[in-house]
Amino acid sequence: FTGPLEHIGCCCHRIPTSYKAGMRVPGHIYASDAMLETIRKDQAPDQVANVATLPGIQVASIAMPDIHWGYGFCIGGVCATDPEEGGVISPGGVGYDINCGVRLLKTNLYLDDVKHHMRELVKALFYTIPTGAGRAGRYKFNPVETRRLMGEGPRFVIDRGLGVARDLDHTEANGHIDGGDPHQVSDHAVKRGAEQCGTLGSGNHFLEVQVVDSVFDADVARAFGLELNQICVMIHSGSRGLGYQVCDDSLASFRNCPVKYGFELPDRQLACAPVDSPEGRKYIAAMRAAANYGFCNRQLLMQQAREVFAGVFGRSWEDLGMEQLYDVAHNIAKLEEHTIEGKKKKVWVHRKGATRAFPAGHPEVPEAFRAVGQPVIIPGDMGRASWILVGSQGAMDKTFGTTCHGAGRAMSRTAALKDGVGRKIDKELEHRGVIAMASSRNGLAEEQPKAYKNVDDVVGVVHDADLSRRVARMRPLGVIKG
Ligand code: 5GP
Ligand code: MN
Ligand code: MN
Repeated sequence: FTGPLEHIGCCCHRIPTSYKAGMRVPGHIYASDAMLETIRKDQAPDQVANVATLPGIQVASIAMPDIHWGYGFCIGGVCATDPEEGGVISPGGVGYDINCGVRLLKTNLYLDDVKHHMRELVKALFYTIPTGAGRAGRYKFNPVETRRLMGEGPRFVIDRGLGVARDLDHTEANGHIDGGDPHQVSDHAVKRGAEQCGTLGSGNHFLEVQVVDSVFDADVARAFGLELNQICVMIHSGSRGLGYQVCDDSLASFRNCPVKYGFELPDRQLACAPVDSPEGRKYIAAMRAAANYGFCNRQLLMQQAREVFAGVFGRSWEDLGMEQLYDVAHNIAKLEEHTIEGKKKKVWVHRKGATRAFPAGHPEVPEAFRAVGQPVIIPGDMGRASWILVGSQGAMDKTFGTTCHGAGRAMSRTAALKDGVGRKIDKELEHRGVIAMASSRNGLAEEQPKAYKNVDDVVGVVHDADLSRRVARMRPLGVIKG
């Protein structure tokens, strides 16, 4: 990308509307000067400019410092559209893995309690929790049950003893997005989802045992129930084959929308439909149902982790203090109220590889955290670190209540794979104190730490830009990967 990136204040760089024909708003990319060089090597900034042409887009097409190329929209992208100005909904702005997201589970164990059990623990997790593309799980639902599960979210499985009601209080939207309609989800998608709920999925998805390595904000950490040397479990997965199929189905139905509704797109992958159109309404209903499935998938993954810990440590999960800190989506579109140029508006906020980060006092922040702000969970990579942040007001003012979602890829999968030839990544990780098990050796190479940016740098940017603030840094001890 050789276009203009004008520095406009703290860590924010603007692509002016003059850059490309049809841009309705500027692009805003949050990054440090050092990161900009890497970002320019990719087509992602052009994608930010493309998104700025979408009908009804508000304020700016925004990208986070974990930005990299994605289908149509970049990963790390945020855009909000106003239905009253012909605003559109776009599956590419949500991503194929609808409601991919992260959940953090706390324990009352400390580093000394687990350090001699890590291999046993990781093995038990790996052999209990299904990993890898297309893998089926131990929970089977028939199509009718799968549709009910999509309607209700995790409450459906909690009612069957797989978790407790308080898990819902600590899940974005209480694990249930209103307006989801499982009957708008194709039979094919339901079939794919029926046997995959409670499975991790491929490559980038993981379940990781981590230790709190440093605490940056003691007050917020206390409110979150986090302290130094405490053991936590981070879970990253989405809506599996079901979400993928919902996305694919909708892309097919959106193909003729530009002609039908009279707008032009600079890239076919930006396929979209007006929010208030039959195509748009159908996708929204199906996407919300798939999102509920995603929350349910992470609920079942968490429950399996609780059972494994109970088996390894010979105590119940309740006794081990395995309470959920929070669960937050990073691939989703939601109708939210935001203040734009002094006016309150309901807009469709698309977050694709971006995390909601609401500040203290926001009614959607669970009561337990309302005084400090929403917990934000940021995975980094399996060798270095991950983070817990807290939402802040700057996000409401500048990014529709949004921050980054991870470190973001620094190398393509192919480049990372090539780089891993002849190496034993699991042994390298072991030398760094991390036990890793994966369903594919190639997967480990594609996912090796240096395939990602340094998450500390990414978090530094969102902290400095006041999109969210540092609370605690976690170091990996053991990980299972797809
Ligand atoms: P995505 O949803 O974009 O595939 O991944 C989100 C983020 O997860 C990535 O940007 C990366 O920073 C992080 N990540 C990927 N694999 C791992 C892992 O094995 N462990 C940790 N802690 N983070 C990871
Ligand atoms: Mn995913
Ligand atoms: Mn993800």
